[in-house]
Order: sequence, then C-alpha cells, then structure tokens
Amino acid sequence: MAEKILAINAGSSSLKFKLYLMPAEQVLVSGLVDRIGHDDAIFTYHLNGDKHETVQAIADHLQAVKLVIEALLNSGLIQDKAEIVGVGHRVSHGGSTYTKSVEINADVMKQIDRLSVLSPLHNPVNLVGIKAFETLLPDAREVAVFDTSFHSTMPASAYTYALPHELVEKYGIRRYGFHGQSHEYVYSEALRRFGETQTSQMISCHLGNGASVCAIKNGESVNTSMGFTPLAGLVMGTRSGDIDPGIVPFIEKEEHLSAEDVRKLLNSDSGLQGISGLSNDVRDILEAEKQGNQRAKLALAVYVHQILEYIGAYTTDLGGLKTLVFTAGVGEHSAPIRERICSRLGYLGVKIDSEKNHRNDFEIQADDSQVKVLVIPTDEELVISRETVKVLDS
Ligand code: ADP
Repeated sequence: MAEKILAINAGSSSLKFKLYLMPAEQVLVSGLVDRIGHDDAIFTYHLNGDKHETVQAIADHLQAVKLVIEALLNSGLIQDKAEIVGVGHRVSHGGSTYTKSVEINADVMKQIDRLSVLSPLHNPVNLVGIKAFETLLPDAREVAVFDTSFHSTMPASAYTYALPHELVEKYGIRRYGFHGQSHEYVYSEALRRFGETQTSQMISCHLGNGASVCAIKNGESVNTSMGFTPLAGLVMGTRSGDIDPGIVPFIEKEEHLSAEDVRKLLNSDSGLQGISGLSNDVRDILEAEKQGNQRAKLALAVYVHQILEYIGAYTTDLGGLKTLVFTAGVGEHSAPIRERICSRLGYLGVKIDSEKNHRNDFEIQADDSQVKVLVIPTDEELVISRETVKVLDS
C-alpha cells in the first residue's frame, strides 16, 4: 500500500527533509530549514521543479518543523497531518546498542540521549528533531536510522583499539564508523546495476566535507576509516583525520590548551583548511594550486595520498577489488581529484576514461579496466525512508 514517509536529517542549526511516497520511492518534496535560531533563517523547498524560499526568524527546531508541516498542507501534498505514517530520523550514534534501525519510544530516546557522550555534537540535536516531530505529528510512528548501524558487521580485528581492555569495555571504546546511510545507498545502486558478483569486493569513497572510505564485502561493511568518532581516518574539510595520538598531549602541554581547545582545533581548524590556510573547499584549493600556491598543492597531495593508502589497505581487507565508487561533494563532482586517485591505481587494474570522468558519467572506467569505477550521487534520505518502511512493516 502506498504510504507517505518523511525522512529527516537534523543538524545543530538546520533541518533537511524529504517526503517520499513509498514503496515507489517517489520524492514528493524536498527542502531545508537553515540558520535555525537566527532572525534571518532560510526555509527552502523544491516542489514540482520550482524552488520556494523564504527568509524569516525561526527560533528553534519546533518552529522549523511547524513550518515544514504547514508547507506540506498548504501545497496540497497532504490534506491531513495523519497522512504521514512514518518519520525516519538520521541519528549519528547507535553505539553497540543499535546495530539496526529501531522504532522510537521513550526508552529509545533515553538510550540516544545516553549515547550522546559518544557523539556530543550530533545525538543531542537529533533528539531535538525527534521530540519536535513527536509533539507536532503525534500520530506518526518515528524511526531512528543510525550512521553507525551499517558498520556493525565489521569483525573485531577491524574495530578493536589496542587500549587497556577494561577501559574499552567500560566506555565502549571501539571503531564504530559513520556515513552508514551513504555507503549503504551507493552499494545498493551498484548492486542493482551490476549484481552480486561485480559488487562482492567494493570500496566506497564518501568524499564530502566529512569523508570516509568503506570496504564492503558481499554487501557488508568489513572496515571503514572513521572510528570511535567522525574525526578519524581521512583528511577532511576542517577535520584532521588520523594523526599520531602522541600529538594531542604534546600540543596540550606546549600550547597550554584544554581538552576542549584541542577538540576544536582537530575538528574545526585542521584538515584541508589547516594545511592550506585558505579554505576547506576542494574547489578553492584546486584554484589556488593553479595559481602556484604551494600549501594548496601540499593539501591536495596529502588528501589524495591518504585516500590511496585506504584503498590499498582495504583491497587487502577484501582480498581484491572489483568496484570502486566515488560519492558526496568531491567524489561526485571533482574529475581532477578522481583522476589523481585513479591514475595511481594501475597496480590494481584500475583505468579510467578521461572523457567519461570529465562528464561525471555513472561508469567512468576505460573499456580495458579490470575494476568498475562508478560515480554515484549519494541519497542518504532514501536509505532513511527505506529503513523506516522496513521497521514499520516488521
Ligand atoms: P557534507 O559532507 O557537508 O554533506 P557534501 O557532500 O555536499 O558535504 O560536500 C561538500 C564539499 O564538496 C565542499 O566542501 C567542496 O569541497 C566539495 N565540492 C562540491 N562540488 C565540488 C566540485 N565541483 N569540485 C570539487 N569539490 C567540490
């Protein structure tokens, strides 16, 4: 039976939404409330090919959700709030408690709150979104879809940190991984197009502002570059990715910084921004490199080098490589970055077709490449919507 499902991705000052008609996976409307908490908040939505945008004061997430529901009613997409049977929420951290999506009740909300210690920047905000919908759509069932769940299939050898085991057990310190909805989506697309054999050894590179690589074996995540927190792994826009852990106490001591100062330094002032001193945006850095800026050149060299390191390591995890996928902002749009990466992967049988790469085709490998190389625009909201239906139907 056709049903209307809302997929929600709540950030600290934003709320992204998509209304789907399921199981057809038809997007009825998509939009974003940005700058929540400001007098000049922006509410944008796309309906029937038209963009609607208003700028107004939006005090909090509750008011943002009210606006979204009013827009759905005014546009005639729903006649009554009760038509929305399910609301799926992206939730950052499910810890070891949630290895699958789950219907939200009071106990689940308590657990998401408890897991905030593992994801202090995201879980509390995700909860705010959940509570706003609970208040304003009391008849809809709500589902939590965790960033971490897709990676729950990782073996202990990939998720265990070599720390004192008592501490690890006391606090649940292990690799969890993030971007699960995105890695799952691109896998599902590759599978749909090319089948199980071609996708049995696949590496997904989610290269956005945040970035992670995932090794997917027969549809299951067996390793991923983010860890206990989304700070680990690759160099990102403003996040450091992996560094020698000894650097943390060193900087703390030498610069007289608090733990919170160092957390901010590693999350907001590092990465491409930190190396280049210019920008967190790959487009700006490519441009500066063209003008001869040496730090921009270095930033991109480090960025590409680290992606290559993970691809090499994960090919070992998978015992081979049949499909390589690029997704998210950089992965979907930056032909030069894909080119720099793939030109160094000849040893794995990767060869791309320059024209296809520059056209951002779905398949960009050359005819004689031994590995399929795909550019797949990610769709995290669709995975949230699919998961919501799955949980509500179970
Ligand atoms: P987020 O991780 O915040 O969801 P996105 O996946 O949308 O972000 O990626 C945003 C990033 O993608 C930008 O910071 C920018 O560096 C990069 N990006 C977007 N378009 C291009 C492009 N044409 N070339 C290079 N980088 C791009």
